[in-house]
Amino acid sequence: MATNRTFTMIKPDAVGNNYIGGILKMINEAGFRIVSMKYTRLSKESAGEFYAVHSARPFYGELVDYMSSGSIVAAILEKENAVADFRNLIGATDPTKAEEGTIRKIYAKSIAANAVHGSDSDENAAIEGDFFFSKLERF
Ligand code: ATP
Ligand code: MG
Repeated sequence: MATNRTFTMIKPDAVGNNYIGGILKMINEAGFRIVSMKYTRLSKESAGEFYAVHSARPFYGELVDYMSSGSIVAAILEKENAVADFRNLIGATDPTKAEEGTIRKIYAKSIAANAVHGSDSDENAAIEGDFFFSKLERF
């Protein structure tokens, strides 16, 4: 059964380009409620842990370096069918393949610096939300 929460990060490229406001506006206008949010930065070690599932992929080192290169915004979002609806809102991993009107089409620079993260399953949404937020912060 689908739960109603997903997890997102606004990645260093989007934070560095002052796109936080524009991206949060799109998230709110798409009907997501912000449950928890923080502005923070990942160490190399914590970026490696967060993306451990990709440790065998050829781009893992680049991904970890990139995700620890600047500040990010982490958030838990709530909406009916949150995981699938948020993946539709952000668009394809490669912004050149993302549909018009999606966050990555509008704000992403490249497949590596692609503006936002979105959980790919309910199970990972819970794991990723727990990675960043304590139980008290996830009410
Ligand atoms: P995310 O998990 O960040 O929401 P995604 O689910 O669309 O993105 P994944 O396959 O999970 O894509 O890849 C995780 C991240 O790794 C991508 O968002 C991107 O930043 C990076 N990445 C994926 N493929 C490549 C690639 N070929 N070259 C460089 N970086 C890549
Ligand atoms: Mg993914």
